[in-house]
Amino acid sequence: MDFDVIVIGAGPGGYVTAIRAAQLGLKTAIVEREALGGVCLNWGCIPTKALLKSGEVYEQLGHLADYGLKVEKASFDFAGVIARSRKVSAQLNAGVGFLMKKHKIEVVEGEATLEKGQGAPKVVVALKAGGSRSLQARHVILATGARARTIPAVGLEPDGERVWTYREAMVPKAAPKSLVVIGSGAIGIEFASFYRALGADVTVVEALPRILPVEDEEVSKAAQKAFERRGLKFRVGAAVKKLSKSKSGVEVALEVGGKAETLAADVAIVAVGIVGNVEGLGLEALGVKVEKTHVVTDAHGGTGVPGLYAIGDLAGPPWLAHKASHEGVHCIEHIAGLKPSNLTAPIPGCTYANPQVASVGLTEAQAKEKGIAVKVGRFPFKVNGKAIASGETEGFVKTVFDAATGALVGAHMIGAEVTEMIQGYALAITLEATEAELHATVYPHPTMSEAMHESALDAFGKVLHI
Ligand code: NAD
Repeated sequence: MDFDVIVIGAGPGGYVTAIRAAQLGLKTAIVEREALGGVCLNWGCIPTKALLKSGEVYEQLGHLADYGLKVEKASFDFAGVIARSRKVSAQLNAGVGFLMKKHKIEVVEGEATLEKGQGAPKVVVALKAGGSRSLQARHVILATGARARTIPAVGLEPDGERVWTYREAMVPKAAPKSLVVIGSGAIGIEFASFYRALGADVTVVEALPRILPVEDEEVSKAAQKAFERRGLKFRVGAAVKKLSKSKSGVEVALEVGGKAETLAADVAIVAVGIVGNVEGLGLEALGVKVEKTHVVTDAHGGTGVPGLYAIGDLAGPPWLAHKASHEGVHCIEHIAGLKPSNLTAPIPGCTYANPQVASVGLTEAQAKEKGIAVKVGRFPFKVNGKAIASGETEGFVKTVFDAATGALVGAHMIGAEVTEMIQGYALAITLEATEAELHATVYPHPTMSEAMHESALDAFGKVLHI
């Protein structure tokens, strides 16, 4: 055996798993074909947050008078905005490299395929530097992630110039003046928010009847209104019939409510979901079960093939970095015989637009579908002291409780920095808190988090500041 564990893919699923494996005393290698940190750190979560911060600061300059401040003329250097985002990614990529060294994890740069081995499959790596290396470990963990879904039949396919996925949208040479974003999930909304903040004319097209369709309906509605106040335009319930390139940009033919409409813009961003990176790994020959581009796994990431596991985006939804890390740690602790508790903790979801959206657990509709009688609390930031002082009064906090037991089953927030607050409710649900614990918790004053307390109080007729 060359290693105890080989992890394939160094995104937030893979590299965190490798660190935990090393902590557990396992001799570990990680194979990566592109860059340590994966999509999240190099092309996703992290660089978009840098872009969004630039957009947000720039947008705030337009409201300086509200704070009694003044600048003569604000402008931006687009290349500088992009360069900062790349620098942030590069810093964190180097950080992962440092962590691999610190934990004595061998990084193998190249593309891995699996072949029948002794016990676990053998890992054959076509090395970046040329040649190949054949490695055998007791356990192999697949963490190869996912990539943007494209729909070539209607032209939803990136060309790197006028049709972009998140990848091209992250590093354009110039900011587009007009943009059609197809898909209103987190990727679509975050890029729409960023480019709108820099002044682009942006229309978001969504096939379903509302934007951010995985969120609670009240949050979706409030988000659309808030984004429209910033000048974003939406077409919901819209079927894309054809995306074609015109002389100067793109044309997107739609059908909205039975009527045909064509949108013209410099550029289109395709953000219609993702597909798992299942190809080229040799999964079929090993008999690994793949459904809808995802590897089918058991409760611990096992694929059914001895010694072969899959975690993160590759193992299916929700396609989120923190879910991947969480699953990876569970998987390796299970392999090491630690008997980790089941993967039942709810996975929070965040959209870092302006305003931000964050949620955890069940929406009100999902709770009702499960037959749960609910008590619902709401509290708006417009009456929260800190929010008023900060000039950030948009949005609200909604909490959903099981009326029979008092257990918190879901929480939904829209407003400034709600992505930093949702963890409080995630912890509450993980600890199976009821309204009693949430009411008894002391929230610091003045903070926007007081709205979280008030929302829980409101669900039980005890709200204080309304
Ligand atoms: P998504 O599945 O979240 O959203 C895609 C949206 O496109 C959906 O609302 C869907 O109804 C719509 N859609 C699908 N086909 C369409 C069509 N033909 N025309 C118009 N609309 C169409 O996917 P995404 O936004 O591409 O993101 C991919 C994954 O990455 C998601 O799981 C997302 O949660 C994750 N992600 C998370 C973050 C974050 O946590 N902030 C950021 C980016 C991406």
